[in-house]
Amino acid sequence: MTVRGISLLTRYKMPAEGAILVCEDLFDAFQKNRNGFHRRTLRPPNIPNLMDSLFPESYSASRARFLRDVERVRPQWADSSLESYALKNHPALSIDWLWAHPRKKENLVMISTAEHGIEGYVGSAMLKIFMDEFAPRLNKDNTGLLLVHAINPWGMQNRLRVNPLNVDLNRNFVYDGKYRAEINPEYDLIASFLNPQRQARAIRAETIPFLVTAIKKMIRPGRARVRAASLLGQHRHEKGIYFGGTHVQEETQVLMDLYRRALAEYKNFFQVDVHTGFGPRYQMTVLVSPLDDTPSAETAARFNYPLVHKVNAREFYAISGDMGEYVYRLRDAEFPATKVFAGGFEFGTFGDSLPALLKSLRITILENQLRHYAVVTKKAEEEIRAEYDELFFPSEKRWQEKALADGRQAFEGILRAYDLL
Ligand SMILES: [Zn+2]
Repeated sequence: MTVRGISLLTRYKMPAEGAILVCEDLFDAFQKNRNGFHRRTLRPPNIPNLMDSLFPESYSASRARFLRDVERVRPQWADSSLESYALKNHPALSIDWLWAHPRKKENLVMISTAEHGIEGYVGSAMLKIFMDEFAPRLNKDNTGLLLVHAINPWGMQNRLRVNPLNVDLNRNFVYDGKYRAEINPEYDLIASFLNPQRQARAIRAETIPFLVTAIKKMIRPGRARVRAASLLGQHRHEKGIYFGGTHVQEETQVLMDLYRRALAEYKNFFQVDVHTGFGPRYQMTVLVSPLDDTPSAETAARFNYPLVHKVNAREFYAISGDMGEYVYRLRDAEFPATKVFAGGFEFGTFGDSLPALLKSLRITILENQLRHYAVVTKKAEEEIRAEYDELFFPSEKRWQEKALADGRQAFEGILRAYDLL
């Protein structure tokens, strides 16, 4: 495999040493994939004790568990309400949330999941840990809860990041409501690479052409620009990856209304929004808004947590229409007296090496391609969906156990840092 890698690289005149390493790593990863290291077979639908497993099997199992657990949490607070929003075109799917109010509305802790649907499987486990292990330890006289199950229920049910309109909801929280087509002009330079307008083929058949183009694009426009342009979000290519929509989505509006109420009623607002897919494989990153002015190293020390990054190009990657940023902008504009920490958990899956980033970009492109332009065979579709699942919800036990441990450590650190425990 390396020999084929070298010949590709020679043709495109990459600096040989680093490039060969990249290709070896990448093909090594593919080799492991073929040997079953990362391969996921579809899970059997009826596993005993489904409701007691921290990682749910389906959107509906996760929702049923949330609704059950909510009834255990509610009696601990002075006042509570369980509310729900059913999607207009999918009324069987809903965003569900619990408000639990204390006697004195000082602090509000919000946990939210599945803004990127499929990431809600890990999100659900975090929500469960929070409800079982941390909510009982909060001061119910002055601390309330806002627990949101599945911001993007359609995406969670269908195991996709996007909503039914292909919108990445974390590119849709545009504060001024102006979805500018002109942002991210660099996306257009690589649009045909990011969004091939043809049937998806099997992963193996797509890999070499993908790598050839990826290497060309890494030379020009350049690796950093490819990464930044693909992830920033865009409002022009409605069938493209990282499409932020051209108007506010119904799911987004539900959350915007919740934020307005939360910031109006409470003095201090703390949020953890759970995501997966980026960062080192076995170390969750606590993400902090670029509008939070504390240096990340200082935040890491305060939280007693090893990895804290800001959502900007230097530390993570820049996002336009980011939900966390929306909360700070809303606070600044309408509720300047309210203190805000709107952060996130980001569980890395493939890792943050160049081969891992290429692998995640490749499968993101293929999944989007098969949804819009179909796929050659059922088998090719199954392979693509299985790898896409692994990108957002790894099946490896070791990964899952570390994710739970990191989530517990970060909840403990953040809640302690704000004197909530
Ligand atoms: Zn996400």
